[in-house]
Amino acid sequence: MSEFKPVRGMRDLLPAQAEMLRSVEGKARKVAELYGYREIVTPVVESYDLLSAKAGEEVKSRMFLFKDLGGRDVALRPEFTASVARLVATTLRNEPKPLRLFCVGSIYRYDEPQRGRYREFWQSNYELMGSNRPEADAEVLMLTNALMHQAGLKKYAFKVGHVGVLRGILIQEKVDEKIQNAVMQLMDKKQYNDAIALLEKSGTPRKCTSLIRKLVELRGAKVLEVADSIKILVQDYERSVEAVENLREVLELVSGSGCEIDMTVEAGFARGLEYYTGMIFEINVPDLDIALGGGGRYDRLIELFGGERTPAVGVAHGLDRIMLGLETHKALEKSEERKTVMVVATKDELSGQALRVAQLLRVAGIPAELEVMRRRMVKALEVADKKKTTFAVIVGEKELGEGAVVIRNLLKREQNTIRIEKIAEYLKCHA
Ligand code: AMP
Repeated sequence: MSEFKPVRGMRDLLPAQAEMLRSVEGKARKVAELYGYREIVTPVVESYDLLSAKAGEEVKSRMFLFKDLGGRDVALRPEFTASVARLVATTLRNEPKPLRLFCVGSIYRYDEPQRGRYREFWQSNYELMGSNRPEADAEVLMLTNALMHQAGLKKYAFKVGHVGVLRGILIQEKVDEKIQNAVMQLMDKKQYNDAIALLEKSGTPRKCTSLIRKLVELRGAKVLEVADSIKILVQDYERSVEAVENLREVLELVSGSGCEIDMTVEAGFARGLEYYTGMIFEINVPDLDIALGGGGRYDRLIELFGGERTPAVGVAHGLDRIMLGLETHKALEKSEERKTVMVVATKDELSGQALRVAQLLRVAGIPAELEVMRRRMVKALEVADKKKTTFAVIVGEKELGEGAVVIRNLLKREQNTIRIEKIAEYLKCHA
């Protein structure tokens, strides 16, 4: 056996897995359609300059980066957002707002491979550009809920926060922006003690670090009450108060929308990417310790890419992880029992006739496989049996003479002679 295998972190998806991926992808596309997001297809390879422009250090250090044959620094996309931002800052800059865009495809990150973490994985990505209103944030939460529901997940929960709560405090305390970013990244990894230690080391007053400690503890499923408690805690920080008021508006809209979303608000929740400016969220499945998707608001991103100031909110879902969630919940849809048809000639000289019959079936919309190994009929039927083929269409001399073929139901072990012009109809009725 050959020793070739996929590169570390890369996987082959065999037919059943590929079918499942395409099915989840189809659901993501359906949700996009339902919410009015138009699909765009962007390149897998983009310039390193674009991809690194606003990516955090972490994403930058994990890019599949290379020089193309023209000596350009390029990389495999580690997210969709940079490509969408490039389009909105250039070709689509004059499109009426809001702009709702959807992409789905493969993403590449040099992550350490483990369960649910691959170097090539699939995302569906939705971006709503042009609105700074809480309705837009609510929409992105709701469409994510719709996708998780339509995918068939039984139990999943949203964790919601607002980067402005922590940022508001850090800005007012005049914490250096680099340190702010490092603190947010540590908080994202739940390394709260390290984050607070870093703040203490950089001379942040105790009053502020003890407030952050309290915020980290503050979380709960009674989302509006938690928002109110956050507001009381941060009352001395104007921007944080604005942030929590905005978060409350979003939560109120979602709660009142009629779609029942299981949400928890976490005051100390941060997401590593530096470009978030507002509400942020993640979706988790209780028995899987990995996020199925995440997103939030990033109002300055488009201008960072040289476009006009365009408020935006978006989300990316990990399709591989949705599949993992479905497996964990044993909620995989049984793939439809497909009827399969094999067309086989009784002798080599009739191969052309068999090919013609197979073509006739395909033209009528019936998938048909032709026996292309020129196996003897008995052997061909044996193989068809092994592959659990439903019907064998046997093209034999005697029947052909009468303008007919034999159709054998391999599962029921019964057969009929059917006129050629009737086979498509016969198979449709019996399939
Ligand atoms: P992010 O762009 O980091 O917010 O990621 C969005 C979603 O993509 C995550 O919530 C995961 O579901 C998925 N994801 C991120 N990295 C990986 C990976 N290495 N393997 C599989 N899925 C991933």
